[in-house]
Amino acid sequence: MATYVFRCPSCSDFDVIQPMSSLTPTHPCPSCTAESHRVFTAPHLATIAPGLHRAIGAADASAEAPQVVRSIPDGAPRPRSRRWNPMTGAAPVDAAQRSGGRYPSLPRS
Ligand SMILES: [Zn+2]
Repeated sequence: MATYVFRCPSCSDFDVIQPMSSLTPTHPCPSCTAESHRVFTAPHLATIAPGLHRAIGAADASAEAPQVVRSIPDGAPRPRSRRWNPMTGAAPVDAAQRSGGRYPSLPRS
């Protein structure tokens, strides 16, 4: 099944989903039943975010020549949590900095 765009001379464009084998050059308008001609449009290709496009390009380039990193590059985002990260392992959390304070109160029953 493919989606085709037809243009009614008195209304507007409308889409018709039909098999390629039964495609006709004209189609009746769903609003006024006027004979409408097919409009040729650019193919509906999926668009992706620029950052994702750059990441896919880097992954493709890395398949041929892998990039080896021996340290965290400058400008790289830092881990959001200081409790654990793959470079330094576990880090202690100061009890005074916890949400709820040093000795959080117990729930009352
Ligand atoms: Zn129409």
